[in-house]
Amino acid sequence: MSQPLVTVWNEFRHEKTNETIRKIYPKGIHTAIADGLGEHGIETLTATLDEPEHGLTDEVLDKTDVLIWWGHAAHGAVEDAIADKVKARVLQGMGLIVLHSGHYSKPFTRLMGTSCSLKWREAGEKERLWVIEHGHPIVEGLGEYFEIEQAEMYGEPFDIPEPDTLVFISWFPGGEVFRSGCCYYRGRGKIFYFRPGHETYPIYYDKNVRHVIANASRWAALGDAPVPVFGNAKPLEPLS
Ligand code: ZN
Repeated sequence: MSQPLVTVWNEFRHEKTNETIRKIYPKGIHTAIADGLGEHGIETLTATLDEPEHGLTDEVLDKTDVLIWWGHAAHGAVEDAIADKVKARVLQGMGLIVLHSGHYSKPFTRLMGTSCSLKWREAGEKERLWVIEHGHPIVEGLGEYFEIEQAEMYGEPFDIPEPDTLVFISWFPGGEVFRSGCCYYRGRGKIFYFRPGHETYPIYYDKNVRHVIANASRWAALGDAPVPVFGNAKPLEPLS
């Protein structure tokens, strides 16, 4: 299939206020993610919280095959009407990739219907992501696992509905495990939750992380999917 047009959405606040984070992501996390997609030949737009309509106008969403969501400290500042619009777009077929702390974002919790709470610890631990669905398009080109040297720990329990496909499980040296790559079908839309991230580690420059986000963008795009028809139906064969 052709490459999707991906819109990368970022809160883009702490990159402006925190020197440590600014040094890692001087042009914002959204720009680093977009650059990674560019390495894989995928075209992007970006949108941020403090733009009008959070950058997610109908004009932008009409063009968007897949929306990537990065938020952390300002989930509450996202207008309900915009979160509802994103949810509606996903049900109509827009792909959604929710990264890391986006587990608490309004679009994701609305689509999951659960608290999406989890355990966490910020101690610069190694993360080992095990591929557990080896034929899935999101893991194409990876080895049986990959590692991130410094990560924030997320651990089970993760209060999400059971994923339609679980692609990765993460292990952390403190003993926890986590469902770190979760695929869902909702309406015509495909959703991928991918755990790696965190604003104080340079994780969106990581080759494997960029590879997964690019694969996931292609997977989540609707493409030429059939259009479902609902309601009263005439029989396709004569009924006796
Ligand atoms: Zn984090």
